[in-house]
Amino acid sequence: MMIKLTSRGHGNKEIVERVISSPLKAKKLVEGKRRISVSERVARECINIGYGFFTPLEGFMNKADVEAVCKKMRLTNGVLWSIPIVLDVSSEEIEKEGIEEGEKVLLIYNEQPLALLNIEEIFKYDKMDLARDILGTTDMKHPGVKIYKEMKDTFIGGKITLVNIPIFNPPFNRFWYTPKKIREKFVEKGWRRIVAHQTRNVPHRGHEWLMKAAWFATNGELPVERPQTGILVNCVIGMKKIGDYIDEAIVLCHQQLQDSGYIRSDIHMVSIVLWDMRYAGPREAIFHAILRSNLGCTHHMFGRDHAGVGNYYGPYDAHRIFDEIPENALNIKPVRLLDWWYCPVCDEIGYSGFCGHHEEKQEISGTMIRGVIKNGSDVKSLQKIMRPEVFNKMMECANKYGFGSPFCTEQYLAERQPVFKLQQL
Ligand SMILES: [Zn+2]
Repeated sequence: MMIKLTSRGHGNKEIVERVISSPLKAKKLVEGKRRISVSERVARECINIGYGFFTPLEGFMNKADVEAVCKKMRLTNGVLWSIPIVLDVSSEEIEKEGIEEGEKVLLIYNEQPLALLNIEEIFKYDKMDLARDILGTTDMKHPGVKIYKEMKDTFIGGKITLVNIPIFNPPFNRFWYTPKKIREKFVEKGWRRIVAHQTRNVPHRGHEWLMKAAWFATNGELPVERPQTGILVNCVIGMKKIGDYIDEAIVLCHQQLQDSGYIRSDIHMVSIVLWDMRYAGPREAIFHAILRSNLGCTHHMFGRDHAGVGNYYGPYDAHRIFDEIPENALNIKPVRLLDWWYCPVCDEIGYSGFCGHHEEKQEISGTMIRGVIKNGSDVKSLQKIMRPEVFNKMMECANKYGFGSPFCTEQYLAERQPVFKLQQL
């Protein structure tokens, strides 16, 4: 099947945009509405629904859709969908506020108006059933299970409309594009094919190598003198754990690869998406493909254990799931990639699909990078796995944003500058 760049989103639907951009109009609309406060995760998902990242969804799911997604990986209209998008509220709050089906309420985040919600259905759904169907486990050590477990006891389904435009703080503002805006960018750049690279990492040379390999796979037979294929680095910004790279370092270090010329600016672009990883392995791979097809990407990189955690999924389960869905269910193609390391015999980045020196391989680990940061030791061997400009930018970010560390600490999680803010209407 040929993947075509189209103006339509997932499920061959128009890109959803449900946003009131005039504050005056928004102010009138929200007046006198009853209010529900939402979590950071739900706020991020409201923004995604409003701007069409989740096309064809126009709101939070009703029970029938949640069930269809869990049991059949489809929406009730038949469109492929792998992770339920739900709004959780406590039953006490619903009772206290006297909130009812059919009502229009205002969703509040950080004490500011965020979105109007047309309540279609108030329902219960067993959260551990959700976890079992989506993640394949109910083990509390799985971070996705924790997300479901911590959700409030009642769900509300219904369409939403954003009434407040999120303002992104630096350095994120220059990397924030809505699906409609990013598609305009692709047209401007003359790109006909775009391969998405999902990341939550500061790039090592292995990541760089894989992005370049994926560019060749995606470009295929197209001419190369004036490139028509681009790499979209799409950094996932959401809930963080201690030890993760700080968000600022992730986006700025990917940009540094381009600024230092390791990847040409006419084939490379860095952007962000707000999303809380469920670590759902194969189901999350499908979800990432849906998300990036809504951004206008034609291809998506999937490496070893994509969106996995621990040993819950086989290392290539997230590759295989694409063989199990019908070809026309997605308008984006997977680019499947194996493992990589540093090979001392080849004296370069070794790719397990090419390099025959598997016994000699030197795994590149976060521990190694941590060692260099801590003791300044072994900078030379670090250069084999991370570009010096990227390393320096990472340390600059550590000082500027990370309270001295490029990895999330308790202090960073408590005191970091928020990624976006909402203004008073
Ligand atoms: Zn080798």
